[in-house]
Amino acid sequence: MNREFPTQADVVIVGSGPAGAAYARILSEQSPDANVVMFEVGPLLADPPGIHVKNLPGDARARAQRLSEGPAPRDGASTDTMKGYADASQRLVRPGTFLLPDGYRMPGEDGLPGAAMSSNVGGMGAHWTGACPRPGGKERVDFIDDLDELLSEGERLLGVDDRVFEGAPYSAQVRERLAELLDSERPANRHVAPMPLAVRRQQDGGLVWSGSDVVFGEPTRSNPRFTLIPEALVARVRHEHGQVTGVIVRDQRDCTEHTVDAPVVVVAADALRTPQILWASNVRPHALGRWLNDQPQSVYAVRLRDVESHADVDHDSTEIVPESGVNWVPYTDDDPFHGQVMQLDASPVKLASDDAPKPGTIVGLGWFCAKDLQESDRVEFDDAQLDGYGMPAMRIHYRLTDDDHSMIQRSRQAMMRAAAALGEPLDDRDPLTFAPGASLHYQGTVRMGQVDDGTSVCGPTSEVWGVAGLFVAGNGVIPTAIACNPTLTSVALAVHGARSIAANITSTKG
Ligand code: FAD
Repeated sequence: MNREFPTQADVVIVGSGPAGAAYARILSEQSPDANVVMFEVGPLLADPPGIHVKNLPGDARARAQRLSEGPAPRDGASTDTMKGYADASQRLVRPGTFLLPDGYRMPGEDGLPGAAMSSNVGGMGAHWTGACPRPGGKERVDFIDDLDELLSEGERLLGVDDRVFEGAPYSAQVRERLAELLDSERPANRHVAPMPLAVRRQQDGGLVWSGSDVVFGEPTRSNPRFTLIPEALVARVRHEHGQVTGVIVRDQRDCTEHTVDAPVVVVAADALRTPQILWASNVRPHALGRWLNDQPQSVYAVRLRDVESHADVDHDSTEIVPESGVNWVPYTDDDPFHGQVMQLDASPVKLASDDAPKPGTIVGLGWFCAKDLQESDRVEFDDAQLDGYGMPAMRIHYRLTDDDHSMIQRSRQAMMRAAAALGEPLDDRDPLTFAPGASLHYQGTVRMGQVDDGTSVCGPTSEVWGVAGLFVAGNGVIPTAIACNPTLTSVALAVHGARSIAANITSTKG
């Protein structure tokens, strides 16, 4: 970590979330001779760089959340609580994230009122819930032959474990009830299962959440040729004659601008800001910003039937409740929803006032749909209006189609059916469907394609069509309509891209 801005690097990485960190890790492992510089617009929160805020004690966590909230952080202490999540707010905002101040909905459209970002070392990966399911069926990118091996590598980098809540008393009961209802209807590899989570349990029982620090790992931290520079905004990627030549980066501390030469630039600045940087750099392929999609999400809660209470549970906590763990109802093409059960912070339903008698027996369900992909759903950029960072302001065009509305209805019914197998509703309220954008899983804006036919921004290794050496990373690269949490898939695709850069460096230097 230093403040010296280099004038040259072998690889520049923009953004320090899990996708950018995956590039840093693979390059540190496979190209230890390469000089790699990572620029991150947000501040360093704590040591090690990229640490998940849930691993920090209360006050430090609240401070880190505020520091992550972009150009206009909220006032006050931690909002690390379930309160307010069930009020059907159009603009639900999670701690450590910030919403688009404007441009999130065009007249007559649905928009993405919940669209949010994080600006800090570690990106949203310092605030996430860590659910890492593998995609299935049509969710998978079918032109990537070795996708399963890449997903395994992604699991290694993120420290994914599906046994972390193995001993949780209610977890097996929840799973058995769901399995009895659903498994006979689905392929064996998509049975109800414990949710794979990027979480590690320590000897003393405490949980350690994976952030980018885990993805960086020791190979990156001990790499003398790797440099991370926080509070540094990449304003433009430079390119000439179809080849990347470097970046223009602005020091957020003193507003000085620096020119860095580099033959390879990876833009991993989230699914909204990655296309923003390309746009500002005059890299504007037809598909840029288009095919934007977010996963419509509905939540519900039940009281588990016929179970005994085990322990006191703080329902205001965002910790996954140790009594119940997290269970997973995987997406299938016939039942195209991703279901999470017991992950209270992902299924934030207000709890009934009489919850006290049996703490730990309330089950939260969250069902996510795949969007009906449309080229017209897009983020555009307004060169005449600047955002809080001085970048072209975002304008979101987004509509739910008739198919989306019927899928949302189907997902609510599927969730109610699962809920009925588990227990009784807390009250007579219907499931809550969040406003678009609230899933925080935005995809498609720099999508990958097999060929350059105008419907994609990059090829299978994430290199942008027509600009050699320019790579894009993160959820925006995912070309399919996926319902499952996307980060594992993005990290897997980042591994693929990073390996191709490493192979190129080796062949050039060798
Ligand atoms: P990010 O993590 O968003 O990182 C992008 C980084 O780029 C940011 O740090 C940003 O500051 C930086 N940047 C942007 N512009 C610039 C610029 N011009 N110059 C320099 N730097 C720039 N996903 C799951 O898969 N499972 C979950 O269970 C899950 N739960 C979530 C729960 C919450 C509360 C939140 C907030 C998110 C959750 N997510 C989950 C989403 C997950 O965090 C993201 O999918 C993931 O972090 C994306 O990684 P990324 O590296 O592509 O982008």
